[in-house]
Amino acid sequence: MSRSLTVVLCDLDETLIDESPNVRAGYRAAAHYAADCFPSIDTDQFIDLAPVAVREIWWQPDWLGPITERYGLSAWDGLSEEFRGPHRELDQLRDWLPDYRLAAWRNVFSRLDITAPRHVLDETARAFSWGRHKGRVRLARGVAQMLPALGDRAIGVVTNGPADGQEEKIHRAGLGRLLKAVVASTAAGAGKPDPALVAMCLEAMGNRRMDEVVIVGDSLERDIQLAQNAGVPAVWITPSPPPAANLPPTVVAVASATNVAHAIARLEQR
Ligand SMILES: [Mg+2]
Repeated sequence: MSRSLTVVLCDLDETLIDESPNVRAGYRAAAHYAADCFPSIDTDQFIDLAPVAVREIWWQPDWLGPITERYGLSAWDGLSEEFRGPHRELDQLRDWLPDYRLAAWRNVFSRLDITAPRHVLDETARAFSWGRHKGRVRLARGVAQMLPALGDRAIGVVTNGPADGQEEKIHRAGLGRLLKAVVASTAAGAGKPDPALVAMCLEAMGNRRMDEVVIVGDSLERDIQLAQNAGVPAVWITPSPPPAANLPPTVVAVASATNVAHAIARLEQR
């Protein structure tokens, strides 16, 4: 039996783009500003400990854990994104963001035995945001080869994360005009692996059919589970693909995005 998988729904982070250089650039900009204020600061040490100190604050409120899990959020997104969207469930998070940023950067400085004044904390927060948002977002490895190889298949993005930040990354990676629709968890009111996101994306792509869909992503728990929950095939991008015998027949694992189009062709023959 063969079929046509003409709708490719891709994960964003670490599938289509590599956002880690931009996040590192944010921490680097914050470190350089901090070292200008306090010359005793070693910027490499600051960059190493900042993500840990920031995460410590993010995980403090007990109400935030379930939201983080449900929408697939991250502590560094909280440092620079606004989590815009219609869902009231996120209001508490939006209200907390200014306090979070202050406490997070205060925690970074206090790990260096420095008590930073309020204006330094505010400026460090701004430096992170500026450093993270400037410059181009890099495509993930193999994506420049994958996109033309997909031919005239329609491509959509289903991503966990803040809609404002995810849309901006897509724009800065130069992907916007290639995508027929983008569904981000904070705008959708649900996160992967909830199959409702697939239905929303298909509707946004002009009511495409579920039996045309293949999902492409790097996360077993989020992307491949999403495909299983929606009952559609998937291509799993993972550095060490397991033997095919260890995977469901509807999943093909590849080491790089370069091989995605070939993997879809194999799924079409199954
Ligand atoms: Mg990912």
